[in-house]
Amino acid sequence: MIKFTYDFELERIEEHIKASNAKCVGIQLPEGLRNVTTELAGLIRERTGVEVIISGGSCYGACDIDTGVLKAVDVLFHFGHTPFFRSYLSPEDMGRVYYIELKSGVDVRPVVAKAVGELECETVCVVSTLQHVHRLDDAKSILREHGKEAVTGKSPRLRYEGQVLGCDFSAATPACDEALFIGSGSFHPAGLALYTGKRVVAADPFTNQHRVFDGATERKKRYAAIARAYDAKSFGIIVGMKTGQFNMREAKRLMNSAIDAGLRAYLIAMNEITGDRLLGYGVDAFVNTACPRLAEDLSAEVLVLSAREFEVVLGLRDMI
Ligand code: SF4
Repeated sequence: MIKFTYDFELERIEEHIKASNAKCVGIQLPEGLRNVTTELAGLIRERTGVEVIISGGSCYGACDIDTGVLKAVDVLFHFGHTPFFRSYLSPEDMGRVYYIELKSGVDVRPVVAKAVGELECETVCVVSTLQHVHRLDDAKSILREHGKEAVTGKSPRLRYEGQVLGCDFSAATPACDEALFIGSGSFHPAGLALYTGKRVVAADPFTNQHRVFDGATERKKRYAAIARAYDAKSFGIIVGMKTGQFNMREAKRLMNSAIDAGLRAYLIAMNEITGDRLLGYGVDAFVNTACPRLAEDLSAEVLVLSAREFEVVLGLRDMI
C-alpha cells in the first residue's frame, strides 16, 4: 500500500458521498499523483460501494475540471486545488464538483531555516501553493526570528492568504523587496519572479533544497522572446480548450490586431498544448491565451508570446 504524502480526506469524501446519495463518482488528480489514483479509487469503492471513474486526462490546475467525466457522474472529486472564486462552470455543475485540497503534512520549518540565509532584503513576502499554505505562519515566525519583516497578501480570486497559482501571483504584495516561495518545482517561482520583477528564494519542503530566481533575468528572457518575434510574419493564436483557460474573445481580438498590422494570424484551438503539436503548424510564432505559464514552458521548442508581449510587438503597449 502506498503511503500517502498528502491528506486525501477519505472520511470527508465518504460523508459527502452519503450526504449527496451519489452512486457514481469521478476522481481527478494532478499529474504528479497518477501513481496513487487507482489505490485511491479502490479505497473509495471499498468504503462506500459507489462506482468510481478515474479522469485519465491531464489535470494542470483549478482551471482544468474534467467536464466530460462530470457529465457521467453524480459527484466529481477534484484534488489538489481550490475553486477560482469566479467560477467558469454553471452553478449546477459547480455544485457537483467537490474540492479536496491535498494539504501536505510536511514540516516547512527545516527548509525555511536553511533558505533564510539566502534572503538579502528586510521585507520579505511569503507565499506558497495550496499544499503548504497552512504552514505560512511557521515560515513567517522563522523569518521574524532572523530579523526579517514577513508580509503576505491575498488574491481576491483565491481562498487563502499567501496562496498563489501560476496565473495569479497577486498575493505577492508590492510592499516587499524580495519573496520567499514555499513549494516544489520552478513553474511557480519563475513566474513569481517574472510577475514581481524581484528576487525569489524558492524553498522546497520535500527535498529540503532552495534555489534563487531573479526577476530581472526572467524579464530579460521574455524581452529576448519579444525581440525575436519582431521578425515573425505569421502567428498562431492559441485558444486553450480547458474550461477555465478558454478565452476566445481575447484570441479573436489579438488575431484582428495582428491582421490590422499586416501580419498573418490564425486561431488554433487546443486541449493539450505541447511543443511537438505546435511545431507542425508552420507559423513563425504563437500567441498564448491559455495558461499564462505556457510561454516559458514551451520556449525550448517554439516561440510563444503572452498576449501582453504580443501587444508590445504590435506597438500597442510599451512594456510587459
Ligand atoms: S491557468 Fe495555468 S496556472 Fe492557472 S490554474 Fe490553470 S494551469 Fe494553473
